[in-house]
Amino acid sequence: MPTFDEILNNAGPLTLRQAQGSGTSLSKEEIKALLAAEGEDKKKLFDRALQVKLEHLDNYVHLRGLIEYSNICTKYCLYCGVRCKNLKVKRYQLSDEEVIECAKLAHELGYGSVALQSGERSDKAFVDKITYLVQEIKKIDNGSLGITLSLGEQTEETYRRWFEAGAHRYLLRIEASNEDLYYKIHPHDAKHDFKQRLTCIDSLLKIGYQTGTGVMVGLPFQTFDDLANDLLFFKQKDVAMVGMGPFIPHPDTPLWEYRDQIPSAEKRMELTLKMIAILRLMMPEINMVAATANQTVDPQGREKAILAGANVIMPNLTPNEFRENYLIYPDKACVKDKPDECHSCLDVRLAAIGHKVLYNAWGDSVAFTKKHQ
Ligand code: SF4
Repeated sequence: MPTFDEILNNAGPLTLRQAQGSGTSLSKEEIKALLAAEGEDKKKLFDRALQVKLEHLDNYVHLRGLIEYSNICTKYCLYCGVRCKNLKVKRYQLSDEEVIECAKLAHELGYGSVALQSGERSDKAFVDKITYLVQEIKKIDNGSLGITLSLGEQTEETYRRWFEAGAHRYLLRIEASNEDLYYKIHPHDAKHDFKQRLTCIDSLLKIGYQTGTGVMVGLPFQTFDDLANDLLFFKQKDVAMVGMGPFIPHPDTPLWEYRDQIPSAEKRMELTLKMIAILRLMMPEINMVAATANQTVDPQGREKAILAGANVIMPNLTPNEFRENYLIYPDKACVKDKPDECHSCLDVRLAAIGHKVLYNAWGDSVAFTKKHQ
């Protein structure tokens, strides 16, 4: 087993593999050694990840204006505050006009892309409605907005329909790539089938979406082996985007019962940052989201994620009166911010850490673009 410095040096940006953008091949044991880094080693890991990111992607941050379309969901994932069995949630669905207004606002603010997210439904009315909304968003300024969808598991036919309507990115988090762990955070039934989740990710890749996935970090029962395998899973699937955030227990969910069996919020945050940094070494040119969950756990969390290797932020454009009802986890950051406040706040926050927003661009994954040239 190489020393920590040897692992990091081999994972540096100066090797031919890195220069070609293919990233380094870390073994599971090497990833675990990096996950365990403390003190000076931890700082070296973050410094190296930032160096790799700047060399491959510069200091740009891409924005996706987040539209939380509806909190109506047919599933009951054990960690999620929006699960259909949580009867305390007031359910909503934005009108067509509200969605289009949000998308127009994203365009006016120069965000370049929107992300349409919702609880999971696959009935015909929902599928038709999303198709229509994607087509309408595409009409804004002659298709100038990029569209990411995050609408859960669907049939390949549905994914294809939405792709043909104009969506070109899809985010479907695996949440845990270990099947046993998956069933500790999801019910073990036909509606929450691990293999189906994998099939969906494969369908998205096959259709040609810039496919994103991700996991929660600091789950009950999760081990360093699981986390290392999650990173190897992303690499093996060769995904274009990854979103990772600390697990935040929600009081109205079954996983709340295990809140005393997880690392402290500080540790979950630190582990998330290490996951981002290690993945940046492994996949230098993918897009990685600085998730809002980071900022919920730590007021500087999003900036820390950017400095650890992330390059995408998703400012929330959902009308304020609905945001309180889309709480997958509690105390979500920025729920009360108005979109324009969020906008100026981001510029200032990013400038303070030597980064800047790339406005009016789709901000596609460089890894994906190179692969499909
Ligand atoms: S995580 Fe998604 S699919 Fe699961 S209950 Fe929450 S909104 Fe529904």
